Amino acid sequence: MALDKFRIDGKTALVTGGSRGIGLAIVKIFVEAGANVVITGRTCTDAVKDLLEGHRVRVAWIAGDVRDRETPGRLVSAALERFGRLDILVNNAGVADNGNFDEFDDQRLNFILDTNLVAPFRIAREAIRPMLRQAGGTILNIGSISADVANKPQLQVAYNSSKAAIHQMTKVMAFEYAARNIRVNALAPGYVISDMTEGGIANREWSTVWTENTPMGRFAQPEEMATCALFLCSDAASYVTGAVLTADGGYTTH
Ligand code: NDP
Repeated sequence: MALDKFRIDGKTALVTGGSRGIGLAIVKIFVEAGANVVITGRTCTDAVKDLLEGHRVRVAWIAGDVRDRETPGRLVSAALERFGRLDILVNNAGVADNGNFDEFDDQRLNFILDTNLVAPFRIAREAIRPMLRQAGGTILNIGSISADVANKPQLQVAYNSSKAAIHQMTKVMAFEYAARNIRVNALAPGYVISDMTEGGIANREWSTVWTENTPMGRFAQPEEMATCALFLCSDAASYVTGAVLTADGGYTTH
C-alpha cells in the first residue's frame, strides 16, 4: 500500500525541543506512525509526561540543554542504549530574539547562534555516526522562511542568519551523505501558533502584519508542520534529499 510508506514502525527518532510547540506535534505524529521517540528539552512539560504515561515502552525523555557540549553525545547514546539504533534526527529546538542589528551584542548573538546553528550541527555530527554504521538514516532540520526574508515588523537579524545557515548546512550534508543512504532535509515554516509566536500573535499590530502577508490569511497549527515532518522523515520521501520544504501559507510567494 502506498500509504504504508508514511509509517515509521520500529524506527527510532530523536526530536530536540520536543516538549512543546512544533517539536511536540512532531513527537506525537511519530509515535502515531509507529516510531520509538527520544524527546529532549530543558523542561519536561505535562504533555510529555502524558506521552510517557501512555507509551512507556516507545517514548523516552532526556532532559538537556542543546547548547551544552556533552548534550549531543548523551542524547545519541541514550537513543542507542534504549532502542538499539537511531534512524531519524529532528533538529527542532530553537529560540528567537528581536532587536535592531546594532543591538545584538555578543551575548545575544551567541544565544541565538549556539541554539539554532551550533547545537544542530553538533547533534547531527553525533547522530550521523550510528546512521553510517547502520547504512541509513534521515535528518530533518527545522529551518524557517526567515532564512529567505527579513522578518517584519519585528527585526531578528541573528535569527534570520541562523536559519539561513541551517538551510545551507542541510544542503551540504545532503550532498555529502546522499551516497551513504542518509537523507537530509529542512522544513521552513511560516508563522505557526506556539510559545515562540504567542507574544507576537497577541500584539495586534504584529499579528495584522503577519496575517496580511500570508496569502492564506491565517497562522499554522503545529500539527500542520508535523505532517510535513513525517513525510520528509519517512520512506514516502525516499528520493527527497537536500530539499527545503516551505510550509508558510504562501508567505514567500510575493
Ligand atoms: P517553542 O518556543 O514553542 O518551542 C521551542 C522548543 O525548543 C521547546 O521544546 C524548548 O524546550 C526547546 N528549546 C529551546 N531552547 C533549548 C535549549 N537550549 N535546549 C534544549 N531545548 C531547547 O518554539 P516553536 O515550536 O515555535 O519552534 C520550533 C522550531 O521551529 C524552532 O527551531 C523555530 O525556530 C522554528 N520555527 C518556528 C516558527 C513559528 O512560527 N513558531 C516559524 C518558523 C520556524 P525548553 O524551553 O524546555 O528547553
